[in-house]
Amino acid sequence: MLSVDEALKIVLAHATPLPPVRVALGDALGCVLAEEVASDVDSPPHDKAMVDGYAVVAADLASGRATLRLLEVITAGEVPRLIVEPGTTTRIMTGAPIPAGADAVVMVERSSIAPDGRIALDEARTVAGQNIFRRGRSLVRGQVVLRPGARLRSIEVGALAEVGRGEVQVVRRPSVAVLATGNELVAPSAMPDPGQIRNSNGPMLVAAVREAGATPVDLGIARDDVDDLARLIEAGLAHDVLLLSGGVSAGVLDLVPAVLKSLAVDEVFHKVNLKPGKPLWFGHKVAGTLPTLVFGLPGNPVGSLVCFELFVRPVIAKLSGRCDIAALRVSATLTKPVAQRGDRPTYFPAAYCETNAYRRVEPLPWQGSADLATLVQANSLLVLPPGDKTYAEGEPVEVHLLGN
Ligand code: AMP
Ligand code: MG
Repeated sequence: MLSVDEALKIVLAHATPLPPVRVALGDALGCVLAEEVASDVDSPPHDKAMVDGYAVVAADLASGRATLRLLEVITAGEVPRLIVEPGTTTRIMTGAPIPAGADAVVMVERSSIAPDGRIALDEARTVAGQNIFRRGRSLVRGQVVLRPGARLRSIEVGALAEVGRGEVQVVRRPSVAVLATGNELVAPSAMPDPGQIRNSNGPMLVAAVREAGATPVDLGIARDDVDDLARLIEAGLAHDVLLLSGGVSAGVLDLVPAVLKSLAVDEVFHKVNLKPGKPLWFGHKVAGTLPTLVFGLPGNPVGSLVCFELFVRPVIAKLSGRCDIAALRVSATLTKPVAQRGDRPTYFPAAYCETNAYRRVEPLPWQGSADLATLVQANSLLVLPPGDKTYAEGEPVEVHLLGN
């Protein structure tokens, strides 16, 4: 049976970054930039006031005080008309262009109105350039702001807006179809009859896909029936990735591998040496230029989740053009003993916490691969190597952080 590392290597070898597309800036969050972006303007576009106050000739305040004639009032968005000459001043608001002739701004807090209506300023340290942000100080026209490969966070979205990019070229987001399988499944809003359970994997995987930055397509539930499975799997093969849950173990109605085969999806591997998640199936269909990668995730919800985290999340990252796909693995100290049994590495739900560089991890009272409820307290998986061993409190263990 393949190890987790071997299986991940194989899975990633089947994924290549998707081609670039042009998207509206509002849809670009989380995507990877596929072009070089240069500024089309100087920023700021004019010398601008950094405070609300009075634009002056700095030399007028050489003594620390001056009483000046008010020329005009300029708010942000307006353009000054009059030249500030010695003995005069213009009231100016933050962001507004500095009038010609002025070379400093005195804060409004340092001003008062003199009895004759002129403006009295009292600012001992007035020097040329004070409270002025010079044109092009942040960016000059033609300057490269972002290069291909940059992951677009909110900061980059703001910078792109500043340099006039209402649309940008990014690596296309993967489209990921999700299909739950099982005769026993009912919708989350339904009360299960005897023998039935709610479809928790479908909504969980759709959410995980979105969280990973891809576009989920929810195909609902397929019954354990060859025709129903074939119809819905075929719809799923129109996407970059198809995630199935259930139907890949050894039960009499575990029909997924056979149906995939009948639809010309090539099996790459079936089963990986881990717990939970051993039944994982992976294959691909190459039709036209872009293949569809197909994962048959285990039906048990924790197995499904662990396989998503270990294999699907990195694949989505690679398809999205991201190069930061190494999982976040840390070493931490156990705060409670935990028992490992058997010959498979175990990914044990845990609560990880770091304070002042002290990393500790608490195994949760987990009841096995069908126990999703305990995982609501988990933010990580303890990675326990195969072999019977009880790990003591204080022992160092490896931790895989979820959602990375
Ligand atoms: P299977 O591999 O199809 O036999 O499923 C293994 C176990 O996972 C069974 O107990 C199923 O009822 C359960 N299961 C399968 N699919 C789902 C799902 N979508 N949501 C919750 N549990 C599921
Ligand atoms: Mg099933």
